[in-house]
Amino acid sequence: MTLPDGSQQAVPEGSRPLDVAKSISSRLADDAVVARVNGDFFDLTRPLEQDSTLEILTSRSPEALQVYRHSTAHLLAAAVLELYPETKLGIGPPTEAGFYYDFQRETPFTPEDLEAIEARMWKLQEKDLPYERKLTSKTDGLALYKDDWMKRELIEEKAGEIFTEYTLGPDFIDFCRGPHVPSTARIKAFKLLSVAGAYWKGNEHNARLQRIYGTAFFSKKELAAHLEKIEEAKKRDHRKLGQELDLFSIQELAGPGLIFFHPKGGTIRKIIEDWMRDQYVKRGYSLVYTPHVMRRELWKISGHAGYYSENMFAPMELDDAEYQLKPMNCPGHILIYRDKPHSYRDLPVRLGELGTVYRYERAGVLHGLLRVRGFTQDDAHIFCTPEQIEDEVVNCLEFAADVLKTFGFDAYEAELSTWDGGVSGKYDGTKELWELGESALKRAVERTKMTAVVTPDEAAFYGPKIDVKLVDAIGRKWQLSTVQFDFTLPRRFELEYVGEDGKKHQPLMVHRALYGSVERFFGILVEHYAGAFPVWLAPVQAIVLPITDRQIDYANKVEEQLAAKGIRVTVDDRKEKVNLKIREAQLQKIPYMLVVGDREVESGAVSVRNRKHGDQGVKSVHEFLGQLEQLIADKTPAE
Ligand SMILES: [Zn+2]
Ligand SMILES: [Zn+2]
Repeated sequence: MTLPDGSQQAVPEGSRPLDVAKSISSRLADDAVVARVNGDFFDLTRPLEQDSTLEILTSRSPEALQVYRHSTAHLLAAAVLELYPETKLGIGPPTEAGFYYDFQRETPFTPEDLEAIEARMWKLQEKDLPYERKLTSKTDGLALYKDDWMKRELIEEKAGEIFTEYTLGPDFIDFCRGPHVPSTARIKAFKLLSVAGAYWKGNEHNARLQRIYGTAFFSKKELAAHLEKIEEAKKRDHRKLGQELDLFSIQELAGPGLIFFHPKGGTIRKIIEDWMRDQYVKRGYSLVYTPHVMRRELWKISGHAGYYSENMFAPMELDDAEYQLKPMNCPGHILIYRDKPHSYRDLPVRLGELGTVYRYERAGVLHGLLRVRGFTQDDAHIFCTPEQIEDEVVNCLEFAADVLKTFGFDAYEAELSTWDGGVSGKYDGTKELWELGESALKRAVERTKMTAVVTPDEAAFYGPKIDVKLVDAIGRKWQLSTVQFDFTLPRRFELEYVGEDGKKHQPLMVHRALYGSVERFFGILVEHYAGAFPVWLAPVQAIVLPITDRQIDYANKVEEQLAAKGIRVTVDDRKEKVNLKIREAQLQKIPYMLVVGDREVESGAVSVRNRKHGDQGVKSVHEFLGQLEQLIADKTPAE
């Protein structure tokens, strides 16, 4: 086995990994979670079936956390069966942030039920019940579980001649590949979080189940930190803030996954879009516009009508042909490129659009602004020669970094996805093209001094790509920008340019979107700033608050003065106490409140209050305006 110091030690047949760990140190045995035996995961208590290469995984390994969380899911299921014996079990996998278990039961689980289940889980935890592996033949299993339809389906689909089950205590048994932690006392920190509807196998035509979500960590401290983060995320939920701040809505009458930007959200969206269009022009892109509906024939040539049809809205029949709502902008840009002959001297051609696309997503996965059915991509396609490709990718990456910096994100991660070297045959394009593309991406990453994790065999089938994930104010990662090569579409559409040699060549094509989708990016901004947008983005930058009716005329004059300089400003002239007006402006997260009473009127001043720093003292309108204009010009992230 591999020892902590890296040295190897042979482990004979019949040994149990846990005993091997004990023979090394009791500390290792206590911290051991699961074993890896000849590359496969093994329960620590399962004897080795042959001489093996053994690795003990401790709480420091991410795979061990998955096993630990999945074991907690069994604990949950065992507790549910004790309390509600009529329940049928679905599946219970670990997730990125915890675990869930699907149950079929007539009565809905209530929040009080979750508390009772959690208490029962602790009881089972204290009993230190072992997770015991049991082998059953498929024939026996099907007979044994003839009344348990979900288990039967799983056995029919997944089991070999012999399959494994795991028991937990005398009454609990579940179909499972394993592995698990040795016993329940190993599970030290967990929490049930919520219950939601789910469908068997994620398909809405199947039976509806109840999914209980929970999370588990190796220590109580990590769990507490995670729960705090969940609370913080709830406060920042863009769906909640979108309503409270009157930014956007989804209208039942119009349909799910379709977004309505209200005036305040629209103001912010205009700034986001204007910034991007200005950047396109500055960086040598040409702005184009393409139709939302095009003949289905086009989507057949592009291939979308085949491999992408599940994600497309159904075609519509018109006089002359079937038409298709566009799920992507690429074919439109390709038609523009193809409209005239190109020489190598015209390249690179960079066509950019804020292009609205429609994609069919199942109703169950729609989520606020993050998963929608209609959205606008800041989409551009670059057509260039092989010699130009590296510089083009560098430009894209620098552009992406600028987007992040401008909108106030300091941290990000990049991921470079490559192919499998052509082994599986699932990737399109020649070896030469893949090597050219991948090495251009790698060199571009080096030149921009971005650090990128290389993920082999994760490329799109049509080419390698770089994805950029940003890290938000509370440490969450969000997939944002993508720069992707495409070897397929130039061939499908027979794109050409005339090279220096006078011969026809196929240009390289790069898809790139930096915001990703404007809707999604907007949602991320709402969560990152918790609705308190930087002054340059805030839909209302300042509000003038007269203390009594006597100052209304003066307040209107202040408003005019600021508005004349392009500041987004309003007056709250309601007959309300100024404290209430301040409180409401604060809740609306308006950056500056300008209180005006008799003294301010006399001296031509405003009493400035900032949403974050409170009272800023009395300033002349001129002085305040100067400071505000500076913050806006600098795009200061938070004030
Ligand atoms: Zn299991
Ligand atoms: Zn594209």
